[in-house]
Amino acid sequence: MTQRNASDMFTNAVKSIKMGIEDYAVDTPSRALSAVRNFYAGVLLLGKEVLIRKVPLADPDEVIGARYMPVPNDQGGVEHVNEGGQTINFHTLGKRFKAFKIPIDTRELEELNDLRNNIEHRFTDQPAQAVREAIARAFPITVAMFHQAGEHPADVLGDAWQSMLEVRALHKKELARCRSSLAGVDWVSPTVANEHLRCTECGSDLIEQRDAENPNQEAMDLICRNCGAEPGWDEAIVDAVDRALGGEAYIRAKETGEPGPIYDCPSCDRHAYIDEEEACAVCGETFEYEHECARCHGGIPLEDALVGFNEGLCSYCTYIANKDD
Ligand SMILES: [Zn+2]
Ligand SMILES: [Zn+2]
Ligand SMILES: [Zn+2]
Repeated sequence: MTQRNASDMFTNAVKSIKMGIEDYAVDTPSRALSAVRNFYAGVLLLGKEVLIRKVPLADPDEVIGARYMPVPNDQGGVEHVNEGGQTINFHTLGKRFKAFKIPIDTRELEELNDLRNNIEHRFTDQPAQAVREAIARAFPITVAMFHQAGEHPADVLGDAWQSMLEVRALHKKELARCRSSLAGVDWVSPTVANEHLRCTECGSDLIEQRDAENPNQEAMDLICRNCGAEPGWDEAIVDAVDRALGGEAYIRAKETGEPGPIYDCPSCDRHAYIDEEEACAVCGETFEYEHECARCHGGIPLEDALVGFNEGLCSYCTYIANKDD
C-alpha cells in the first residue's frame, strides 16, 4: 500500500512537470500561468516523494503532513495526528529536508516560491520569458531531487527533458548577456560585486544596464529583460545587500539580539551601510567615529555611534555621564 502511494506520487510529479513543459511550449499568456503552476506542482510532489522514499517503512501521510497535533490515545499517552489534512508546501519543504538530513539549497527553494508567486500576481507581456526563467531557475533543484529519489530525469521525462535542457541553455545565454553588461561596473561594495543584481519588481536575474560600457554604479540605467521594469540602481543595490546579508541579519537578531550587519546609512538613509565594510554600498559614505570609549576603554559599537553617541563615550558611559549632570 505504502509503495503504491509512493509511486503514484512519483507518477503524478512526472506528469505535472511534463504538462508544465507542454504549456510552456504553447507560448501564450493564458498557458504561461498553467505552465508555471503545473511545473512547480510537479517539483513539489517530487520533493515529497524524495522524503517518502527516504523512510520506506513510514506511513507517507505522516511524512508529508504539514502540522501535527497531539491527541490522547486512550492509554494515558498521546498520538500525533495530521492537523487539517494539509501537506507541506514549498516553504516547509526545505525544513523537512533538513530534518531528514537530505541536502537541499533552502534559499534557492524559497526563491522559487517567491518567483512562482510573482508570476501568479503579475501580468507580464513576455510570458514565455517569465516561464523560461521560472523553469531554468528550478532546474538544478529539480535534477537534484530526481537523483535523491534514485531516478534520472532523462529516463522518466522523455521529450520534456530535452525541452528543459533547451530552456536552461537559452536562459543561460540571456543571463550571460545581461551580466556582461554589468561586468565593468566599479561597485562601491565588494558584497554587491559578489552578489548579482536582480529586478526589484519581479525578482528576475535578467537585469542589464543600457550602456554596457558604463563603469559608474550611480550612472547605471537598468532594465529588466523579464518584465520590462526599470528599477533604480540604488533600489537594486539595497535589494542585493539584503539578499547577501539579510539571512545573517536575521540569525544575528534571533540568536544574539544584536543589530547589523546592515544599518541605515547616516548619509543617504538607505538600509545599505555594511558594518564589516565600514561603508554604505549605495553612496560609499564611511562613517568616522571613535571605536574606543574614552572613559571605560570598551569598544563602541557601530549602532551606538549611528544613533549619536559620538562624544567618544559608549552608550553606557553616556548614560552614566548624563545621570551625574
Ligand atoms: Zn523584472
Ligand atoms: Zn549611503
Ligand atoms: Zn564606556
